[in-house]
Amino acid sequence: MKKFKILFLFLLTVFLQNCDNTDESIDALEDPTTLSPSEVISEGANATPYQFDSDWGANSYWASTIVSTYWTNILKGHHANAASTFGISEPRLYLIGGSGSNNAKSYHAGYVLWGEQFLDLANNYGTTAVAYIAAHEVGHQVQFQNNYPSKRYQTNTIELQADCFAGYYVRRKVTANSTNHSRAANFAYSIGENITNGTHGSKGQRRASTRIGLYLGKWNLTNAQIDYYFDRYYANLIYPGTFNNYYGKDSQLTKVEKEIFDFFSTKTEELSRIYNEEMSDEEYFKDLKLDPIQS
Ligand SMILES: [Zn+2]
Repeated sequence: MKKFKILFLFLLTVFLQNCDNTDESIDALEDPTTLSPSEVISEGANATPYQFDSDWGANSYWASTIVSTYWTNILKGHHANAASTFGISEPRLYLIGGSGSNNAKSYHAGYVLWGEQFLDLANNYGTTAVAYIAAHEVGHQVQFQNNYPSKRYQTNTIELQADCFAGYYVRRKVTANSTNHSRAANFAYSIGENITNGTHGSKGQRRASTRIGLYLGKWNLTNAQIDYYFDRYYANLIYPGTFNNYYGKDSQLTKVEKEIFDFFSTKTEELSRIYNEEMSDEEYFKDLKLDPIQS
């Protein structure tokens, strides 16, 4: 028996030593401010779809306020409010100033970095644009914690689902005006696409994903429900008709599920035209006169 105890203690020591070794490399990732912004470690090949931009500029620096106290507080407010809306603890938010800060990015280690040049561009489109991008980044944290999207049809499904989370948040917490909503999202795409060479998706894919989020925002949904409904309604755009097949299988729909399904049944054609880029900008930006949200 004593021999086993000694063996156990020996193995425990070896195990703890190994843990120590691993912890050292994780520490640097967990608190990015131990590095300069440009030295923040990239999360490797697996993280490619999450990268909103190239690395932070060599002369960028950590800041406590970016653009102005007013805009920093707007950003912090939506970051916190989006986390609370999605029921996750608030991810750490670090701010970056200086050249090469035209970026916002969510990291697996549980934090979000926001750049001054990026906030400066976004605020020209008003608080809705800042709210949209803040919620997109927090949406990535929801994905990291839950391994969403549950189904991935394309490499950019992760980015498109983050747009859906952002669309959902903006309708529920920021504005019922769909013109403001669509224009703010459009600004976010135009910036994202310039920087990322298309990893965030085509114009049609992003507009359709945002609109699915905008429509889902009518109902008070869990993260799992947003993941589920995004999958169903986005899949139907790639594989038209699959939506109705699902309906046939789901004989036990709850009242709300049926309501959501019936609503989206009336939007199939509209979403397809957006997805296939057959809808004009004028039509896309027009006010949709949305129903009041349900609590
Ligand atoms: Zn993203």
